[in-house]
Amino acid sequence: MHIRVMKMPHIPTWLEMSLHLLLCLLVLCTAAKPPNIVFIYADDMGYGDIGCYGHPSSLTPNVDKLAAEGLRFTDFYSSCALCTPSRAGLLTGRYQTRSGMYPFVLLTDSLGGLPHSEITIPEILRGQGYATAMVGKWHLGYGANGTFLPTHHGFQHFLGVPYAHSQGPCQNLICFPPNTTCFGGCEQDQVLLPLLRNEQIIQQPVDFTQLEQMYIDFAQSFIADSVECGKPFFLYFASHHTHVPQYAGEQYAGKSPRGPYGDALMEFDGSVGKLKNALQELGVENNTLLFFTSDNGPETMRMSEGGSSGLLKCGKDTTYEGGMREPAIAYWPGHITPGVTHEMASTLDMLPTFAKLAGACLPNVTLDGFDITNLLLKGNGSPRKTMFYYPSSPNETQGVFAVRHGKYKAHYFTQGSISSGSTPDEDCHVTAKLTPHNPPLLFDLESDPAENSNLCAQGMTADLQQILKDIKRVKDTFEKKMKFGESQMSKGTDPALRPCYNPTCSPKPSCCRSS
Ligand code: MG
Repeated sequence: MHIRVMKMPHIPTWLEMSLHLLLCLLVLCTAAKPPNIVFIYADDMGYGDIGCYGHPSSLTPNVDKLAAEGLRFTDFYSSCALCTPSRAGLLTGRYQTRSGMYPFVLLTDSLGGLPHSEITIPEILRGQGYATAMVGKWHLGYGANGTFLPTHHGFQHFLGVPYAHSQGPCQNLICFPPNTTCFGGCEQDQVLLPLLRNEQIIQQPVDFTQLEQMYIDFAQSFIADSVECGKPFFLYFASHHTHVPQYAGEQYAGKSPRGPYGDALMEFDGSVGKLKNALQELGVENNTLLFFTSDNGPETMRMSEGGSSGLLKCGKDTTYEGGMREPAIAYWPGHITPGVTHEMASTLDMLPTFAKLAGACLPNVTLDGFDITNLLLKGNGSPRKTMFYYPSSPNETQGVFAVRHGKYKAHYFTQGSISSGSTPDEDCHVTAKLTPHNPPLLFDLESDPAENSNLCAQGMTADLQQILKDIKRVKDTFEKKMKFGESQMSKGTDPALRPCYNPTCSPKPSCCRSS
């Protein structure tokens, strides 16, 4: 005789129901509370400039601590070796060739700027309810009536300079102590450097003795306001340090054993510490991803007043490693396990990663970045296996100058730059003219990160041929889909666009000043 065991319907107990409710609430809370993001961007800081990247006399205790408590990258790349294009790559997640941010950089009176059709990180995050602010160097255009300023590209608040602080008469920069000469060259026949709040010039020339503190005060109050409103926030802190001319406020001037460059670096490091403290004091450190990197490699032509790419070859404005490989640290207590990663990643990956963390959909455009959330949060391998190196003056006929695929890097063209002068390596200098390579120069970046030994120099083997074939295939696939946008820099200039505190004053540019 069979006995049928009837399964009684399960009646949940109050404890089970409470647990279920708690779980739902947790899921809802997690989904409803995306992390705050603070992105700190240095300027022209090289791979070898920070203490935790091996510089023997840099004083960078705050960045070093960030690295010790966060994830430090050894193989992190900017999208270009120059200011304007690399900033475009960061904010759009796309190579600068697509947005037309080439050749070279925007000038104080450029007609062009980052096209409004480009979708930026702050635009995506605003769509998810984030408060957005930018501090510091923009360099993605000013335009007629300030049409290309950060406030037209997703930032609700802006305090900063619309371009590089070298793009103004250097003798009019106010440095510490007052009436001393600033360090490094500047451009003459320009308006004095303006400081803008949103779209309004509030100071001209910029007072560099007070600038960093103004930036910190602005950043702190933005963070505090966002916390008070219960809004997640995105802060883009684009420092002028350590681009020439070097400067530092009273707290840091003359304090570094590394000279004016070291003083500027110390001030930058101090700001990193102050921003981190602000997050701690406001109780949001555990819900904030703080990311630090630099826009491009060092301007070695400035000698001791420029930076250092450490063991990497050349620097700014070259497609050698020193031009685009940058220090980078991701810090998020309780979420990112401290350590060092040798996985490849790029500023191009920030947009897809931040979008994922914010729960946003990706924009319907061709992206060159990858979501590296699982690399950051789970220690998984990076989805990025390849990096393409465009020169600062690219064209579709030549295409990319170099490709890194896995540990191998092939140079199809090499060229030196005035920015990478003064080192003993003549390959970096402006005298090293554009040179095509067939077969390409091939380096194993794991055994030879300094790009010293061309693997093909001793003759071609079947293995080398296969490596080059694989890289060429990746290059061809990428370039077939690359569509260059209209060059914004080729639109020319108009001196009337130079920012002026008294727009109707005369004679320009000297009358453009606030005091
Ligand atoms: Mg730069």
